[in-house]
Amino acid sequence: MEHRVELLAVGTELLLGNILNTNARDLSQLLSGLGLNVYHHTVVGDNPARLTQAVEIAKGRADILITTGGLGPTCDDLTKKVVAGAFGLPLEFHPECEQSIRDYFAKSGRTMTANNLQQAYLPRGCTVLENRWGTAPGCAFCVDGVHVVMLPGPPRECLPMFREEVTPYLAQLTQGVIHSRTLRIFGLGESGVEQLLRDKMNTLQNPTLAPYAKEGEVELRITAKAESVEEAKEMITPVEQEVRDILGDQVYGADVTSLEEVVVPMLAKQGLTLGTAESCTGGLIAKRVTDVPGASAVLQGGVVSYTNAVKHNVLGVSQEVLDTQGAVCEEVARQMAQGAMRVLGCDLAVSTTGVAGPDSDERGNPVGLVYVALATPDGCEAVELHLGGAAQRRDRVRTLAANHALDLVRKYCLKMNNEE
Ligand code: AMP
Ligand code: MG
Repeated sequence: MEHRVELLAVGTELLLGNILNTNARDLSQLLSGLGLNVYHHTVVGDNPARLTQAVEIAKGRADILITTGGLGPTCDDLTKKVVAGAFGLPLEFHPECEQSIRDYFAKSGRTMTANNLQQAYLPRGCTVLENRWGTAPGCAFCVDGVHVVMLPGPPRECLPMFREEVTPYLAQLTQGVIHSRTLRIFGLGESGVEQLLRDKMNTLQNPTLAPYAKEGEVELRITAKAESVEEAKEMITPVEQEVRDILGDQVYGADVTSLEEVVVPMLAKQGLTLGTAESCTGGLIAKRVTDVPGASAVLQGGVVSYTNAVKHNVLGVSQEVLDTQGAVCEEVARQMAQGAMRVLGCDLAVSTTGVAGPDSDERGNPVGLVYVALATPDGCEAVELHLGGAAQRRDRVRTLAANHALDLVRKYCLKMNNEE
């Protein structure tokens, strides 16, 4: 049987926009991992009439209702009373819960006020979900084929309780898991990926294939529903291979989060050291490389050569070229990379010079014009990038420029690896 889950978040603060409904996001991810379909997210304030109404609607369209929030000791915490009432259940006092609540206060050295005992009242006949991360216990019950689970609002209580206590409860209701693998793609936009994979995306049912645009990159998620994770992985593998055959080395990794996470081990494997000469990225490339554990085996150093004086004095960029062509040109990018290789004593060096915005430079070069170069023992290559557009943000131009620089390094490593 296909289950239909509804998540009902209770709390006026959510409706006022004071806090974000992160429980909906996080519980949805956990639920899909259990192979359960979440069909509705609802948010309602601390209002008995509207909460009752929301529960009545949920009853008509879901067979698993998970509520978060409103289990606490204050008078606006009305979820248990109202939700249990909507299913015809009275609240009952649970002495064992009273003891846990008293123990929790004793352990944390706080005095318990009387209203805290309200938390020990739970729907008649329910399964108590112990809260080891706070005071308010949760509960679960089933009436007329609808499973109801109530969890406290604070994410640091709600999420571990879900993992440890709700997961086994729900696992009895469902067979199968949802597992996915995410490929990261650089050098193609979302529409480019979609065009190349349109037929596959339209015909595949399980696994499914879905692209998501990320800052200058595309993520392609392959998701399989199966009896077990192993089986799901086996279903994903051939689809992944087909995608890789179509997109080639534009797929830079699977289940990784960034280009640098891939580039650092590639360089280490080749025994190559890297240096940077950065103008418009202001050290971002070096920062991103050093975000990766193991970077010390790879990164030799970096020069942030923001002014022409530093480009000339430190990196040896020709003053004549700077005077005649300006700092934003291909020749300067090349000389920066070659200079970095020399002064830093590294095997490879990347450079960036460009206009991050918000205004064009004094020579009228537009925002987003960036030159990126890579100096290697085999020579120096450079690319001209147009990352602009009037609405382009400064940080985005810099992120994209750094992505392109890291991708040049990656492509070089791939080439070296293939020649071996
Ligand atoms: P409550 O259980 O309603 O008393 O909520 C206590 C606190 O938990 C709130 O003040 C929020 O900080 C947090 N919280 C409640 N509901 C959510 C939610 N849906 N997502 C994220 N945080 C929440
Ligand atoms: Mg509340």
